[in-house]
Amino acid sequence: MYEGVVQDLIDELGRLPGVGPKSAQRIAFHLLQAEPADVQRLAQVLIEVKAKVQFCAICFNVSSEEQCRICRDPRRDPTVLCVVEEYKDVVAIERTREFKGRYHVLGGAISPIDGVGPDQLRIRELMGRLSDAQIAEVILATDPNLEGEATATYLTRQLSPLGLRVTRLASGLPVGGDLEYADEVTLGRAFAGRQTAG
Ligand code: ZN
Repeated sequence: MYEGVVQDLIDELGRLPGVGPKSAQRIAFHLLQAEPADVQRLAQVLIEVKAKVQFCAICFNVSSEEQCRICRDPRRDPTVLCVVEEYKDVVAIERTREFKGRYHVLGGAISPIDGVGPDQLRIRELMGRLSDAQIAEVILATDPNLEGEATATYLTRQLSPLGLRVTRLASGLPVGGDLEYADEVTLGRAFAGRQTAG
């Protein structure tokens, strides 16, 4: 235990994902020794990111405006919608350059153990978007793990009666992992080879 504000810093850092108590301590001492200007810049960008970045009102991607860059882009195909768990998946899929449609970010995956059911995800918002007759295909690009599979299965059941094409990424993605960990070529192939779900 350290005194006052130093311990507060270690505690706050320790709450970040992937930062254990040892790393938290190491980062804290690094910051204590760093140039004041460097620490100032870090503090500033932390405050700014919360103030300026919001979620797209349509797809819930990270955005600096009310609608994200992709939703605003008239060249994106409005007939294909790709459903992902997190906005980092959008980044991963964009890197493949394989997909020209638009996205819907669920905000997670169904996971009873973590208390996440369909109501905690942006599924209601997804159904609302699908009432727009322009959308002809929904690609379910959830993570290739247990929660992702459960989410895709649930969505397939919900979407099937709507009469649109529902597809899943082709197999070949590293099973058990996150979509974002797949390399561009593999993810691109999984996209190109997508198959009808159900
Ligand atoms: Zn958007």
